[in-house]
Amino acid sequence: MNKPDITVGILNSIRIEFHICGYDLEDGNYNVEYSNGAISFNGKTYEELLFTPNNEGAYFTLNDVTIGIQFHWQRQEQQTFHGALKFIIENEKITAVNIISIEEYLKSVISSEMNSNASLDFLKSHAVISRSWAYARIFHYSHHSLYDVCADDHCQRYQGIQRITNDNAIKAVNETYGEVLTYDNNVCDTRYSKCCGGKTELFSTCWEDQDLPYLICKDDPYCNTNDTKILSQVLNKYDLETMDFHDWEVKYSQEELSEIVENKLHMGLGIITALTPIEIGPSGRIKYLKIEGTNNSITIGKELEIRRALSTSHLKSSAFKVERSNDNFILKGQGWGHGVGLCQIGAAVMGEKGIPYNEILEFYYPHAIITKLY
Ligand SMILES: [Zn+2]
Ligand SMILES: [Zn+2]
Repeated sequence: MNKPDITVGILNSIRIEFHICGYDLEDGNYNVEYSNGAISFNGKTYEELLFTPNNEGAYFTLNDVTIGIQFHWQRQEQQTFHGALKFIIENEKITAVNIISIEEYLKSVISSEMNSNASLDFLKSHAVISRSWAYARIFHYSHHSLYDVCADDHCQRYQGIQRITNDNAIKAVNETYGEVLTYDNNVCDTRYSKCCGGKTELFSTCWEDQDLPYLICKDDPYCNTNDTKILSQVLNKYDLETMDFHDWEVKYSQEELSEIVENKLHMGLGIITALTPIEIGPSGRIKYLKIEGTNNSITIGKELEIRRALSTSHLKSSAFKVERSNDNFILKGQGWGHGVGLCQIGAAVMGEKGIPYNEILEFYYPHAIITKLY
């Protein structure tokens, strides 16, 4: 097969300002606006608009792209992309979609997801799992109906070509060109998270009740590190704002907790009196949690729903124990993210120790093999 293209939804807005250079449209600044169910552009209306590049150096820039949606690092910036630009109608607004080869997409993802001064082998292991993930979104199942992936943390961070500042990210993608992880001739579900916290988690603790032979619970001796040199390889400057995640603690008064839970769940539980884990996965991540209040009680799950319900944004993970002191609830937790599959901090440490990328992948996805698709 040839390398496939991927379609990425970048920005959804009533009005989008953009700059274009090297396309089948005169270079310059333009805008599109949603009005009466259509895209209004240069005095005419369209159902969709496509601009294709005339040369390899062609680029377009979008103003006011929101990144880190609903996370603590949410902010807006201007972003520049190669490849084709398409405007489509989505949710009574316009979405800017980038159509680009999967290999070019990955160079930006690897640079956007991690500080690209990380070791080459860590970046190569990440290139293989990000490619596997993207491949599955193109050919098997997408969480979006009008394009393959979005550009934010919901899918994989893709923040344009300004992020590709380091040769290692490009090298990592080029040196693994076309490589994905497979099991039994199928491309693997290559989940990954920031930090497992000491043990990786089963798929079924976080999502559907079916486990996969290469996503298992195992001890991770690598990710318990305070080495800021390694942490800063994996965490970009937004993530570095919240660095304590291998072991973390959140403290709420009863009143604070009750307010957060009411704002998130709208269940009228009243004053929260107890948080009780009903089922816990092997890494310590809570699968189902019972929340008892003075008016009512409810059991929620799985992993992500618990993290959302107990924080104004997201708890770092659902691997926490609940302690009570006076009228305070103290959540003592481990790890950042669902903990399934590759642990980014652990993999970064392995890469720093000189462990080759195929062994890093073998450690986090046992039984899966590297297959070159094109
Ligand atoms: Zn998405
Ligand atoms: Zn780990």
